[in-house]
Amino acid sequence: MHGARARAGRERAIVTDADPTGPPVGELPAVADVVVVGAGITGAAVAHHLARRGAAVVVLEQAPRPGAAGATGSSGGMVRAYDPDPASAPLAVAGLAAYRDPGLWASGRAPLRAVGAVTVADPGREAVLRAAADRINAVLGTSAHVVAGPAEAAGVGLAGGIALVEPEAGWVAPAEVTADWLEQARADGAVVRCGVPVRAVEARGGRPAVVTGAGTVLAGAVVSAVGPWAADPVPGLRPVVPVRSRSIQVGVVGRGPAVPDHATFVDLRTGLYAKPVGADRTLIGMPHLVWDAPVGAPPDPGHARATVAALTAHFPWLVSAPYLDTVRAADAYGAPDRDGPASGLLTGTGVPHVWAVRGWNGGGVKTAPEAGRRIADAVLTHT
Ligand SMILES: Cc1cc2nc3c(=O)[nH]c(=O)nc-3n(C[C@H](O)[C@H](O)[C@H](O)COP(=O)(O)OP(=O)(O)OC[C@H]3O[C@@H](n4cnc5c(N)ncnc54)[C@H](O)[C@@H]3O)c2cc1C
Repeated sequence: MHGARARAGRERAIVTDADPTGPPVGELPAVADVVVVGAGITGAAVAHHLARRGAAVVVLEQAPRPGAAGATGSSGGMVRAYDPDPASAPLAVAGLAAYRDPGLWASGRAPLRAVGAVTVADPGREAVLRAAADRINAVLGTSAHVVAGPAEAAGVGLAGGIALVEPEAGWVAPAEVTADWLEQARADGAVVRCGVPVRAVEARGGRPAVVTGAGTVLAGAVVSAVGPWAADPVPGLRPVVPVRSRSIQVGVVGRGPAVPDHATFVDLRTGLYAKPVGADRTLIGMPHLVWDAPVGAPPDPGHARATVAALTAHFPWLVSAPYLDTVRAADAYGAPDRDGPASGLLTGTGVPHVWAVRGWNGGGVKTAPEAGRRIADAVLTHT
């Protein structure tokens, strides 16, 4: 594989800078061990782990900046170790461990804002939540615990539910995490190019050729991490196990000085969620079951109003809170490929050595550190 790195210096195409205020754009290598398409949080995680293992990596992002155009740019970034999905649970535990560890980041700081995380569930799930808390604490040495009986936990009204409280969890800024991983990837030799949309991926001589307007990169392997664009991808990047784009819309409300602080929160019964944004605002969300809309679809005012109404059961102060903003984006939704590598985190595309990441179903920040590590391992094993 590493022959590509040696050849990269001799065979180059010139790329123009799409955004003079963005990261510097230089020459596009003509060859690479692995091309990662998409520089959202997933592509950045994969690129970081590949480059750390010595692969010659090229990251191609259509937007002028990484971590801005897709789901990552609008994401709330809530992270917690508990996940009810058994396939995601180990990824979430390892993800929280990574986000808490200052030694893993170019900045030298752990990205986690440990405001706590409250997972609300039906009281019938108390035994399940207690077992999960024990498992999490055994791995992470944390103080996760179940609150059953009180009406409130960590500033979140439980609305008749019980809660798994993780005081050491909270949220990260997804764009900041993305930038840090790309910085580490660059330091390990990766080439990151923004403003370079991939137009197609073709099989040439048994290997994938990644076609862009700025030149073609011949790759040992390709990882497609194009988020909701995977629902209607460019030729050569269609996942064998398809994903669909689903809307995610959140609101931002003001939190006055009299309102108590609160942890991040998700209610497994309803899908409602919230997180503090700084000291004086709160992001609120409710599932927005709109499928296959364009990634840039406009906000839905009816859903915004319904979100505030639904969340008042957990935050009574919302009744008089100023409503500040609505953010609409989308994520890729789909089932894991049971036959795919990396425990279903990857699926084929029909083009040899071209893999697509799975749909993250609205939870890809939480799992990205460990998903990126496992995907990098699998790509290097299968290429
Ligand atoms: C509003 C919102 C709130 C969320 N809250 C949470 C949360 O609290 N916790 C959590 O864990 N998850 C959350 N999520 C989900 C999480 O943010 C996503 O799962 C994750 O960001 C997906 O990252 P990605 O890199 O796979 O995709 P994206 O961030 O969408 O990145 C894909 C990238 O690929 C690029 N691209 C596409 N096509 C091409 C092409 N042809 N050539 C080159 N580049 C291309 C795009 O420009 C984009 O930058 C939320 C998502 C949203 C939208």
